Amino acid sequence: MTKWVYGFGDGNAEGRADMKNLLGGKGANLAEMASLGIPVPAGFTITTELCTYFYENDQTYPADLKEQGAKALSDVEKIMGAKFGDSDNPLLVSVRSGARASMPGMMDTVLNLGLNDDTVKGLIAQSGDERFAYDSYRRFVQMYSDVVLGVEHHHFEEILQDHKDSKGYVLDTDMTADDWKLIVASFRTKVEQQLGRPFPMDPQEQLWGAIGAVFGSWMNQRAITYRKLNDIPAEWGTAVNVQAMVYGNMGEDSATGVCFSRDPSTGMNRFYGEFLINAQGEDVVAGIRTPQPLNLVEKETSHSELPSMEEEMPALYKELNGYRDRLEQHYRDMQDMEFTVQRGKLWMLQTRNGKRTAQAALTIAVEMCEDGLIDKEEAIRRMDPAMLDSLLHPMLDPSADRTVLAKGLPASPGAASGQVVFSADEAEKWAGAGKKVMLVRIETSPEDIGGMHVAQGILTTRGGMTSHAAVVARGMGTPCVSGTGEIKVDYASKSFSVGGTTVNEGDVITIDGASGEVMLGEVPTMQPELTGDFAKLMAWVDKIRTLTVRTNAETPTDAQTARKFGAEGIGLCRTEHMFFDPARIIHMREMIVAEDEETRRAALAKLLPYQRQDFSELFEIMAGLPVTIRLLDPPLHEFLPHSEADMADVASAAGTTVDKIKAASAQLQESNPMLGHRGCRLAITYPEICEMQARAIFEAACEVTKKGGAPVVPEVMVPLVGLFNEFDTLKKVIEGVAKTVMAEQGIELEYLIGTMIELPRAALRAGHIAEQAEFFSFGTNDLTQTAFGLSRDDAGNFLKIYIDKGIIEVDPFVSIDQDGVGELIKLAAERGKATRPDIKLGICGEHGGDPASVVFCHHAGLNYVSCSPYRVPIARLAAAQAVLGAGSYSTK
Ligand code: PEP
Ligand code: MG
Repeated sequence: MTKWVYGFGDGNAEGRADMKNLLGGKGANLAEMASLGIPVPAGFTITTELCTYFYENDQTYPADLKEQGAKALSDVEKIMGAKFGDSDNPLLVSVRSGARASMPGMMDTVLNLGLNDDTVKGLIAQSGDERFAYDSYRRFVQMYSDVVLGVEHHHFEEILQDHKDSKGYVLDTDMTADDWKLIVASFRTKVEQQLGRPFPMDPQEQLWGAIGAVFGSWMNQRAITYRKLNDIPAEWGTAVNVQAMVYGNMGEDSATGVCFSRDPSTGMNRFYGEFLINAQGEDVVAGIRTPQPLNLVEKETSHSELPSMEEEMPALYKELNGYRDRLEQHYRDMQDMEFTVQRGKLWMLQTRNGKRTAQAALTIAVEMCEDGLIDKEEAIRRMDPAMLDSLLHPMLDPSADRTVLAKGLPASPGAASGQVVFSADEAEKWAGAGKKVMLVRIETSPEDIGGMHVAQGILTTRGGMTSHAAVVARGMGTPCVSGTGEIKVDYASKSFSVGGTTVNEGDVITIDGASGEVMLGEVPTMQPELTGDFAKLMAWVDKIRTLTVRTNAETPTDAQTARKFGAEGIGLCRTEHMFFDPARIIHMREMIVAEDEETRRAALAKLLPYQRQDFSELFEIMAGLPVTIRLLDPPLHEFLPHSEADMADVASAAGTTVDKIKAASAQLQESNPMLGHRGCRLAITYPEICEMQARAIFEAACEVTKKGGAPVVPEVMVPLVGLFNEFDTLKKVIEGVAKTVMAEQGIELEYLIGTMIELPRAALRAGHIAEQAEFFSFGTNDLTQTAFGLSRDDAGNFLKIYIDKGIIEVDPFVSIDQDGVGELIKLAAERGKATRPDIKLGICGEHGGDPASVVFCHHAGLNYVSCSPYRVPIARLAAAQAVLGAGSYSTK
């Protein structure tokens, strides 16, 4: 025989907290509280298995359910000392849903069930309050008719309003017992008119009707949508909880409230909550009356004038505080609880692990660990790595109002507001005049860097998570929302429009780079503080993880920030990003458009001192930690001069004419720049570029090593290699330069020469390439682009539709496609190791800071991940969670 029904109450329960799958979260926790001897109104839970049965059998019940239900109900009657359907001393019940995962407000509930013209008399006798009894009765008729019988809410609202108008009443509280009695009759007449049959007076019929409606609500549209958004499988089903009613609105010795065992916004270990005397649960949340503080501390901090529960009901407050301690000790986590006081008796209605802010999660995990309630591993497991983002960046004030205009990709976390400008030049001008600006572009390119730098935030309408805007913003720690396709930018009129709203230059908007939301006006932000708890947790994390965490950095500021966040070296220095400065980009362009080797060498000679200086600074900041410098990898279209003025500047620097520059630029235009003359292909064509860069690297390494300190061991990295011969050719060039420089400087350096693996062919040929390459760094941005054949700059627009349609779960530029791109990584790692067992393996695509991808890298046997500075702590935490078996490693 299948057990469909689990009873609880009076210190006993058939269920337990670890039976959430069967009893749902609410049912399991009610059972657990009952077993702990905490007073919960008696009741029973009908299992989620029954929900499955219900849907598999044409919405019918198994034959033995009614009998099990009747037995459980009679147990409840005994415990509560009242009888269901009895006209003298009736038991009334609530019928509520309760799935495995909380789905607040998505499914149906019926309260005060069991009331009819007879039992209402019993309720009058029990409460001594006729008005209360008829008010409860009309609430029941209204709720039941709406939820179970499908008679819409507005019919009842209209009847009530007409009645109040005819009596000249304003508030519900003006209604007398007789008024409510009349309303009950009118409600029932309305139901009969609508349905052609009377409202059910038989409590058994009411009960089973409500149970059916709650199971039925598992498949309502709201619940289906919520499940889809929250990855909750339909097979889970919901349980149904039938529980004796208790009333917080039975007079001045009754009350109802919600509370948290610790402060859910700060994590402080103090009892926190709100309550209302003589009220029902929904009154606390509905905001009609101002709730009272729970205790004196809360009263003081919230500057409330209202008396606290601690003052008004001291004995009950003490009892509640005792349950708080017991439940927290028992669940070893912060609890979110609901309670009701009925005529001086305290009842606990619910407990569950409370939702909390990132700051609270951190504080609670560390403090519980220090108090011995949980161990360090558990504290680490409980932290969501993605949540750390909000600890490191300004975030939106959660209590602030907001008007969301659009949603794009959460490209770089943090929240910021500013006046809209549509060009980098304007951004610099306005910022120079002391204004806070928000740079809005269709997409960004290296010329925009100055404007990006001064902007509070960056918003683009095109481009994905690895677009120029996204990568650069993350590196700078500037909030960015990219690929917001709904927004239409019109540069000519200096405005953008979205969903009927037009935003002009100078208007203020706010972006949240953690959620991708774009909001009208200024939404207040808060600066999070890095507390001592953060350092403590990160120290525990570092003891556990085996993956090294490096950073992607090319400026001293980035490198310093990353070290502050615990980076253990640089895994990627994109040298082309070192030419964004206006003084340098001219020479870079001169080099690109040079017609012959001599002109190119002349331009390169101008770049050399800059490069040497940059590398020296990075080596010094990293003080002996590994630094991987990648040879130039500029997709040419990003660096070509576009405007007349830019062309004129380049022409004058190169001592040539604008026409020549124009012609050279035109010739360099490519149809598919991302698959064009970039990466190592550039250095194969023009080895002098590789020579200049190698010289800058080795001269800088000699210079810093000579100064004393830890010896520098540079790692020179060749980008976009597909062929063994490409790598082999350039390795020889680099080695040649190294030898020359070391001879010139009279110093011997250790160094490594390796390659990026960012093309499928390189992954497949990794065994061969490893004969010469001393390390591999997986460039998963390009590897994703080329494995999928998806443009990383354009895919943002349609990948969103792929996700909405369920074709893919996540954007593969955000989290590694473990089954496809991941396979290439594993294969390349294996083949590389087979040739060269001690080959160093890392990842430097943007995935290096994505928690699920970090877990993947751990399992794929990489030595390190490298990510933008602000994501270093996230990667450290995810790496530790990988060791602890947590995270989201897919074995599909
Ligand atoms: C990559 O392709 O993953 C990479 C790190 O290089 P970039 O993003 O500079 O192309
Ligand atoms: Mg790349």
